[in-house]
This record gives sequence, C-alpha cells and structure tokens, in this order.
Amino acid sequence: MVEGRCLCGAQAFQAEGPLELMHHCHCGYCRKSHGAAFATAVGVPAAGFRWARRGPIGAFESSPGFAREFCATCGSPLPARPPGDLVFVPAGCLDADPGVRPVAHIFAGSKAPWFEIEDGLPAFEAYPPGFDAPVFESRPPLDPPGSLRGSCLCGDVRCVVEGTPILARHCHCSRCRRERGAAHASNLVAPAEAVRFTGGAERLREYRVPDARFFTHTFCGRCGSSMPRIDPGRGIAIVPMGGLDDAPPVRPREHIWVGSKAPWYDIPGDLPRYEGAPPS
Ligand SMILES: [Zn+2]
Ligand SMILES: [Zn+2]
Ligand SMILES: [Zn+2]
Repeated sequence: MVEGRCLCGAQAFQAEGPLELMHHCHCGYCRKSHGAAFATAVGVPAAGFRWARRGPIGAFESSPGFAREFCATCGSPLPARPPGDLVFVPAGCLDADPGVRPVAHIFAGSKAPWFEIEDGLPAFEAYPPGFDAPVFESRPPLDPPGSLRGSCLCGDVRCVVEGTPILARHCHCSRCRRERGAAHASNLVAPAEAVRFTGGAERLREYRVPDARFFTHTFCGRCGSSMPRIDPGRGIAIVPMGGLDDAPPVRPREHIWVGSKAPWYDIPGDLPRYEGAPPS
C-alpha cells in the first residue's frame, strides 16, 4: 500500500494494487499546475484508491472532462483520474518510497526551455506510442512581451519579473516536494521589488507551514498553481519557474536540500548539490 498527503495534511490518500506507468510529464499544464520543471505521477488502480482524509478542495478543468484538484487550504496538487481505470497520484505527495521508478518522460516536446532532460530515460514528444488521447495546446502568454512573464494555469493570476533575477535553483526539501507534488521545486530568487502582479492578485491564497520560519505556499485559489511569494521582510521574491511563460535570463545553478530528496528520484546532471541549505 502507498500513502500520501498534501502539505497541510487536510487531504490524505491510500492506494493498493500494482503501481503502474510512473512517469515525468513536461506538458505546459502540469508545469503550471505544479509550478515545477515537470510533474511526476504514478498510476494506481481506481478500485484500490481511497481517501483517508478529505478536506476542502479546489478544482480546475484544464481540458474538457479532466479536472485537476488541489487542496484549497495549502494548494498541493491532488490525485487525478483521467478517463480509464487508473488514478494518477502526484509522486511528490507520497509518504514513502513507492518501490517503483519513473519509466519515461512524456510531453518532452513541451518541456521548459530552462530544463534539460539528462537521465537517459525514454523521452516522448507527447504521449508514448500507442497511448491514444487528445493533445491540447497550451495557451499563449496573456500579457504583452517585454518583461519575463508568468501566469497560473487558469490565467487569472499573472505576473512579471523585471530586471535580472538573483539566481535559480532546484529545491528537494520535503515541504517543496509536497507543495508542488513534484520531484523538486525549481525557483527563481529575485529582489522583492522586481516581481509585480499584473492581474489576479486578489485570487492569491497563502498557506504558511505552522512550524516553519518562512515556508509559505502562495497559490492561485481558482486553479491551485504555485505563484510567486513576495517576502518584503527578507527583501526577496521566490518565483516558481513552472509558471513562467518566457525563458528566464538565468538557469538553475544548484540542487539544495538533496539530503531530503525523493527516494524515487535520482538527480541527473552535474550541477552542484548541497545536502541542506546552500552556502550563503
Ligand atoms: Zn492541504
Ligand atoms: Zn502533463
Ligand atoms: Zn489560476
């Protein structure tokens, strides 16, 4: 049996049965809804899936008939059931090692321009051969070009990042993994004053982890997408890179908190890795 939960714990699930088709998805919908470089999901038989706890949820129908649910309190993405007999569970929300490993990248043709696929797994442009499902185009950015643009999946919340961000990095801490329901978060760090919401700021919701000094998830209340968190106290903004509509002027330079990384994810590539917090 595998178990998982959202960041705040209001939602928890259990699944029994063979785990199938664990994969990384790079489609624009997953990248926005998870605020991550890619989403990783594992299929479980619908008959073996059950909610152990179910709190208030939000849902956004990202393509006809397919609703992406999220925890309305903390914004974590939740298991989803596309047409068929499998429920797809966001691997970042699992409590323990599921024992299976990702077998492929899908929608590699839609991947983020700031992320390279380096692990040698098969990478399919869209769905793998033989998997017959409609493909939906991502919508174009809503704001005019000029600054680095970002937006949530539903398009209500939009932002720009002005100037050059300070840096970008991948974070493998357990909070980031649950918050994004992903292998890791990828964030831009920018001066607080560089990030401006150009629409939908009233849609934003925040969840602060009770025992955390800073950790707060800012997300769109309509679609659950992770959105920039501006922290005037520290003078910085944390911008989830999955929501970017343009290629940023900096690339992720390091992996942090790799001592907490997902057991099912081997970090590829040769970027520097730090067990915990990065050296300042
Ligand atoms: Zn939650
Ligand atoms: Zn996807
Ligand atoms: Zn939204």
